[in-house]
Amino acid sequence: VVSKLPKTPTTIFTVMSALAAEVGAINLSQGFPDYDCAPELTELVYKAMKEGHNQYAQMTGLPALREAIAAKANTLYGADYDQNTDVTVTAGGTQALFTAISAVIQPNDEVIIFEPAYDAYAPTVKLMGGVVRAMELTPPDYRIPWDMVKKLVSVKTRMIILNSPHNPTGTILDENDIKELITIVKNRDIIILSDEVYEHLVFDGKQHLSMALYPELRERSFIAASFGKLFHTTGWKIGYCLAPAYLMQEFRKIHQFNVFSVNTPMQVAAAEYLKDESVYLGLADFFQRKRDNFREGLSQTRFELLPCHGSYFQSVSYSNFSDEKDNELAVRIAKEFGVASIPVSAFYNKGTDHHILRFCFAKKQETLDKAVERLMKIG
Ligand code: PMP
Ligand code: GLN
Repeated sequence: VVSKLPKTPTTIFTVMSALAAEVGAINLSQGFPDYDCAPELTELVYKAMKEGHNQYAQMTGLPALREAIAAKANTLYGADYDQNTDVTVTAGGTQALFTAISAVIQPNDEVIIFEPAYDAYAPTVKLMGGVVRAMELTPPDYRIPWDMVKKLVSVKTRMIILNSPHNPTGTILDENDIKELITIVKNRDIIILSDEVYEHLVFDGKQHLSMALYPELRERSFIAASFGKLFHTTGWKIGYCLAPAYLMQEFRKIHQFNVFSVNTPMQVAAAEYLKDESVYLGLADFFQRKRDNFREGLSQTRFELLPCHGSYFQSVSYSNFSDEKDNELAVRIAKEFGVASIPVSAFYNKGTDHHILRFCFAKKQETLDKAVERLMKIG
């Protein structure tokens, strides 16, 4: 066969998690918790199964779950998403992203992506025949240079992909970013794909600025969300997409042939579990404590900490003590010191290497402590 994605390697998450398993390293590479979700939640799934919720759910998602999702968006962002026309339950954030891009990108449409970028965006755009217009952001702050974005935008621009809180850098959009974005998309035929899977993981009392907060942006945005992050259940692969009806209608045309529907018992459980607002309201504090402890630990190593305002990733620079390539250093640290990380060059199409590694801190305190102990031996 002629490869449709000739230059796309196996994802760095697969590669580094496999290496961690092979060499027995503490796995701070791929982003997932090493602790279990709330027992009440698994009980709800079990109960749903026992009660016979074991057949296809509605193509768009269970009504009770769509209702709970719409209510959450209303509580948090004051947005009126109609559960019947504007909300679809997906097989994780990944499927929401894939389906949203597939639904609107035509051959030769241009899509603006900010790098470092989560690895799922660009291949999907390319599969649809779209053209990726990547803009590289620079550490340590990774601010979006909006003047340059304005120069990149043309009649061919069909989509801008945003991700806040950001994986891997932990940056978040601020009011100025939103103002600039509103100016840029105004009177243009540009759709926003907003990857908000870390929406609840924003620290230091800051607010997550969802596209749902701003009517001018909401009306042209797909928002991707993930229950994997919200419930500490990345293996369940369940999430959702929010969009105005005219976009969601196109999204669902693809969704129905992509997965048709998402597993039923977990939807029943999620709908019930979401009734308790503290489930999502308590998440920022929970992860902020982990961030603070981990940063404290890392400050005793030779790594230099980059800022982390959100997400469950902490990036560090090592240029002060090594000029090894980041992918080589990540492998060496996994093998020699027993801690797996992600080399941030993997998030750039051109493999740009700023000598930065990403660690996931969605881990038990003892795991993070042990990792820090090992990282202290470097350099
Ligand atoms: N977007 C980003 C930025 C992510 O980090 C992830 C994490 N896995 C996803 C999307 C995908 O979410 P899910 O695991 O629910 O498919
Ligand atoms: N989003 C997770 C991360 O950034 C990994 C998801 C995946 O393995 N595809 O680590």
